[in-house]
Amino acid sequence: MSTTYRLGVLEGDGIGPEIVPSSVEIATAAVTAAGASIDWVTLPLGASAIETHGTPVPDETKAALADLDGWFLGPHDSVSYPEPHKSALNPSGTLRKHFQLFANIRPAKSFPGAQAVCDNADLVIVRENTEGFYADRNTFAGTGEFMPTENTAIMLGIITREATERVARVAFELARSRRKKVTIVHKANVLKLTTGLFRTVCQEIAAEYPDVAVDDFHIDAMTVHLVRRAQDFDVIVTENMFGDILSDLAGEISGSLGTAPSINASATTAMAQASHGSAPDIAGQNIANPVAMILSGAMLFEWLGAKHEDEAIGRAAKIIDAGVAATIESGISTRDLGGSASTSEFTAAVVKAIQNGAGQN
Ligand code: ATP
Repeated sequence: MSTTYRLGVLEGDGIGPEIVPSSVEIATAAVTAAGASIDWVTLPLGASAIETHGTPVPDETKAALADLDGWFLGPHDSVSYPEPHKSALNPSGTLRKHFQLFANIRPAKSFPGAQAVCDNADLVIVRENTEGFYADRNTFAGTGEFMPTENTAIMLGIITREATERVARVAFELARSRRKKVTIVHKANVLKLTTGLFRTVCQEIAAEYPDVAVDDFHIDAMTVHLVRRAQDFDVIVTENMFGDILSDLAGEISGSLGTAPSINASATTAMAQASHGSAPDIAGQNIANPVAMILSGAMLFEWLGAKHEDEAIGRAAKIIDAGVAATIESGISTRDLGGSASTSEFTAAVVKAIQNGAGQN
């Protein structure tokens, strides 16, 4: 029996109010086709929440999310917020920190029929999400970035054994369900103690997974390997900032930033979030590509299916993936992928593909 899951919907800013409803509409069609069940709970977040609640992440949103099984998060345009919100930790960072969502899992997979630098990439980047060089989240209180004088800025980079072990385990478990290969990315020739510890701990965890092949590269060399031969990589595990940069690169190589999904997970909850930002340059025009957000929803369903050993919600994830792939393969895509469909036309086509049986043979 499939459970009824309660999932939050946080539209966010920029193209969020276009791509998040699109992903909910498609998820609902897939859930119906799979015989699963979702209760959607809409919650305030972002610029509109500053107007209604005086803050981009209201306490009531955090309290409600704590009782849910997971949520869909739209992008935020925090650089356009008024102070003090602009200088504060941004909404997704706030939620990642508050819920200790330590693993940011970002696949990059080419779609048959879509233009891409690499047309057969199928890799996943597992990015540590709570420490590293991202000073906005690597301290208990305050930030790890500060200015002792007007002309001197200092930041802290933090790598711990505990955080590295838990993210490495996520990467190796994931590799076991895929092509059984993990690539550790670091810069241990220069940042010897910090990223050196990251590499060492990942290699120690690798010893627990003798069936998974392991190699490692410096971050700078890795950018070259990704551009030249993205198809050779399976699971890549790395620290926070390297993972952020590498996953934008991998997303673009395998299609467009508009197709790169992600989830942010702890052991108990998960947040679906497209890898791209709020794209204010194209907001409100019904031209944004909703695929990254749609596939992020499918990743959340897959995560729920594995956590609850629930085949129906896992099936809904596969139906979403198949509906999107069939639509793009049939020649319907948004303009960033070389097509001409609007956001709503693309959404309607995916819903139709699902209603016509995509992923349900
Ligand atoms: P952030 O720092 O918030 O992640 P960013 O600076 O990386 O944001 P994005 O908002 O991701 O920037 O946008 C980068 C470029 O990619 C913009 O030109 C934007 O229009 C385009 N882009 C991003 N997402 C999409 C999408 N879903 N569909 C089409 N184009 C997109």
